[in-house]
Amino acid sequence: MTAVAEIKGWCPGARRPMPSGDGLIVRVRPHGGALSVSALGELARAAQRFGNGQIDLTRRANLQIRGVSDQTLVPLWDLMAALDLLDASAELEAIRNIVVNPLAGLDPAEILDMRPVAAALETRLASDQALQALPAKFGFALDGGGRLPLADLAADVRLVAQVRDGDCRVAIGLSGSDDVRWLGTTSVADAASVAIQLTRVVLKLGPTRRSATLLAPAIATIGAELGLDGAGAMTRSATPQRRCGVIALTDQTCAVGLGAPFGRLDSDALTRLADVLATHGVSEVRLSPWRTLYVPAGPEIAAQIVADAARLGLIVDDADPLMRIDACSGAGCCPSTGLATRQHARVLADAMRRTQFKGTLHVSGCAKGCARSAPADIVLIGEGERYHLVRDGTVRTEACGTVDAAGLDADGDGLFEAGERAHV
Ligand code: SF4
Repeated sequence: MTAVAEIKGWCPGARRPMPSGDGLIVRVRPHGGALSVSALGELARAAQRFGNGQIDLTRRANLQIRGVSDQTLVPLWDLMAALDLLDASAELEAIRNIVVNPLAGLDPAEILDMRPVAAALETRLASDQALQALPAKFGFALDGGGRLPLADLAADVRLVAQVRDGDCRVAIGLSGSDDVRWLGTTSVADAASVAIQLTRVVLKLGPTRRSATLLAPAIATIGAELGLDGAGAMTRSATPQRRCGVIALTDQTCAVGLGAPFGRLDSDALTRLADVLATHGVSEVRLSPWRTLYVPAGPEIAAQIVADAARLGLIVDDADPLMRIDACSGAGCCPSTGLATRQHARVLADAMRRTQFKGTLHVSGCAKGCARSAPADIVLIGEGERYHLVRDGTVRTEACGTVDAAGLDADGDGLFEAGERAHV
């Protein structure tokens, strides 16, 4: 048994990869959610050379290289180190969970470019050893506003830019069990420092070291103790109108959103995408929590990138049903199922198109439900050769029927014909 194979069930990192049915999963955490196009190409080729050629885009705006072995892990680390993508220790990488808006610094509609705050936060996290006791899932969302806000992203500590009396301020919030609890505002200059102080409080007082378990009496006094301005009312950011395809930023500039079906790309497609982007003069790629990559471009180049990316199998239209389907990796990648979940999900995507079903679908190989924790309009939970059917719920909701995996081609339309859209 190898050193990494003895430990199971944690959030994967690079220094501490996670064993899976198809080998080790190595997570790559780009600083500030950005990668150079050349680094993207290098990682895509590395996924083939050192792994099984499969790459995930995660809901924390990271990449995962799958199918790495004990023998190929060290050469992969060497490559990551050369690209400045390898932390000094497993503890340091585990707490570097910071998400910023994917269009930060590009979007004229944003209130604040949060990347400098993210960089300061990263530095402070790395310099305080006590913070290494944070749970691996502890995360920060730094939302500067604009066309792609982070309101739907789960995070323990939220920093949200807002304008008060003509000044830019940063509202500080903690995730509660069912909503965000806003504590007050601070200056942009103090935002990273306040986030660290707040994190120390959660570490000290939170029963599970997560913000959702902080008790009300503790929360009531935190804002004053951190010297925050009165809480005021934070309004929820608007839902973005568009996440895939061409997003106009100004008359002369656009961003292009390129979605990965089920958050998975293969090495060949990603290598060719990096080549396409380099050919069009794009130098940087932004990652997002929506399994979508973003690149800046002028309007003409943007249209070409969309056409090229569509040919490579990426999602370039928000209306594509694949954007509304979550499916776990399934047979061949996970020993808990023999069902080809993603193949079945593609069959069902065609049925969603035919029936014009606008809701969400979750195809899960088993009752664990790794791909989605939020409710979906239709949930299929694998067991043996069939799926249990849940309408408007999660993998934990009581099933209302069963569907034979072998019959999805013929019966798929029937799943969606009566369905109504409840979750997006
Ligand atoms: S939901 Fe079940 S089958 Fe799917 S990846 Fe998770 S454990 Fe494996």
